[in-house]
Amino acid sequence: MGQKHEYQCPQCSYEAFVSGGMDFGFETVLVTISCRDCAELFDAVADERSAEICSTGDDGEHGAPTGIACPKNAKHTFDLWEGPGKCPKCGTKMIVGRPGSCWD
Ligand SMILES: [Zn+2]
Ligand SMILES: [Zn+2]
Repeated sequence: MGQKHEYQCPQCSYEAFVSGGMDFGFETVLVTISCRDCAELFDAVADERSAEICSTGDDGEHGAPTGIACPKNAKHTFDLWEGPGKCPKCGTKMIVGRPGSCWD
């Protein structure tokens, strides 16, 4: 499984603990999203089938994974987020903090 990272905003000190992109597990696909309504980063779980769609890229069209939504509200608008990307609160480029797992 993938590793999560801590991302920090140097401007407003917002912190998020996310995978920072698309993360393929055995049966699930984790996608990091930046929710515009919550102004937060989340790891959302995409449909299993979208993993196949993404890997094969059938007609060259690289569609976004399906089935993902903001965990707070499915109607929220969000953008796919790849770390280190922009802070969902103030738009400043975030920096990578310490790695999440296996840290003592
Ligand atoms: Zn910020
Ligand atoms: Zn949201």
